[in-house]
Amino acid sequence: MQLAYSKEDEGFRATLREWLERELPALPPMPARDAWADRRKWDTDWQRRLFDAGYAGLHWPTEYGGRGASPTEQLIFYEETTRARAPYVGVNFVGTLHAGPTLIEEGTDAQKAEHLPKILRGEEVWCQGFSEPGAGSDLASLRTRAERDGDDYVLNGQKIWCSFGQIADVGEFLVRTDPDAPKHKGISWLILPMDTPGIEIRPLKTVIGSSEFSEVFLTDVRVPVANRVGAENDGWRVTNVTLKYERGTAFVSELVDAIRLAEDLAARMHEGGTAHLAETDLGRCIAEFDALWALTKRNVSQSARGITGAGAMVMKLAYTEARQRFGEVCLRELHRDALHVDDNEYVEERLRTLALTIAAGSSQIQRNIIGERVLGLPREPR
Ligand SMILES: Cc1cc2nc3c(=O)[nH]c(=O)nc-3n(C[C@H](O)[C@H](O)[C@H](O)COP(=O)(O)OP(=O)(O)OC[C@H]3O[C@@H](n4cnc5c(N)ncnc54)[C@H](O)[C@@H]3O)c2cc1C
Repeated sequence: MQLAYSKEDEGFRATLREWLERELPALPPMPARDAWADRRKWDTDWQRRLFDAGYAGLHWPTEYGGRGASPTEQLIFYEETTRARAPYVGVNFVGTLHAGPTLIEEGTDAQKAEHLPKILRGEEVWCQGFSEPGAGSDLASLRTRAERDGDDYVLNGQKIWCSFGQIADVGEFLVRTDPDAPKHKGISWLILPMDTPGIEIRPLKTVIGSSEFSEVFLTDVRVPVANRVGAENDGWRVTNVTLKYERGTAFVSELVDAIRLAEDLAARMHEGGTAHLAETDLGRCIAEFDALWALTKRNVSQSARGITGAGAMVMKLAYTEARQRFGEVCLRELHRDALHVDDNEYVEERLRTLALTIAAGSSQIQRNIIGERVLGLPREPR
């Protein structure tokens, strides 16, 4: 791979930087954490600005409205948006980073035409209804039933941990379409409009006091068969397409944010004359993030050539565990001061990152996957 930026890449960087300098001062202040309607508006407005400027769906093919950007342009985008403190992907996470890419690979022409432009323009927010109270790590044990009735499926069951469920327009939902088949063979992947009658959403409060996710109860919910992505009972294969994006490339902007926070903390330590404390633990965190950034460059370069290498499989595990160690270092280095700086950003960092080694597949499950698929160790009994 070529790691040096070309003249064209630097031109892309300069134009993007100029655009960010113009655009960011005009943004209204970020809404409060639990003001969900305002947060949705703020995040989708930003998505619309990206779209209008040609920066939405950077890695999506141009035929689906994306920019079809080269790997280096994608990396430059992450570097520049972080440097400029531009908004994070926010409530557009599911749509832009994994539901949209799944539709691009697996959806029908009608499904792509219906949803992809709206996702890119910030007009459609997606959520993910995969997990159930009895099906998290062992996702294929899911029990939400979808029974065929004419041109519809009728859904009954319960989902949990549905991020952005309370403000989403559409969900990517996994349902059991054949209860008699072996568990991985009886699942289908559905597009579920969240305003369909029979859906009840109950937000759950997290340790940081916000309702990031919800329980979703489904009672006789009718969904057109045309909303199925992939063949009936082939949903496990489609799920793996979604998870490839969710566990692979979706963490890149998070990593860039971690680097920003680590650099802020280092600067703070220097100002406070406690830099010597930082030289070991904080230094190690920054080095780890740096190594992950190098791995990201390699992963982005490989994925542009259709390769899912070992790097993409270890990224989620390595990044989330490094970020938790960083959360711990923040509190240790700042001690009681952590309670007073930047709206408790570092305390929140410590608490929020607890969830990272669980969300999108726990660390233990990631280790099982790496053991089996990368190292070729014997499979876990099923
Ligand atoms: C912040 C956050 C956001 C989320 N958002 C969504 C969302 O939008 N949509 C959605 O569908 N889900 C979402 N989830 C759910 C997430 O995918 C599950 O929490 C995760 O897959 C783990 O499942 P579980 O919570 O049922 O834990 P369990 O599967 O019950 O696991 C409990 C513990 O047992 C361990 N364990 C289980 N099986 C094995 C095994 N075979 N080998 C070794 N150890 C094992 C696990 O690692 C874990 O430590 C979210 C979770 C979090 C934390």
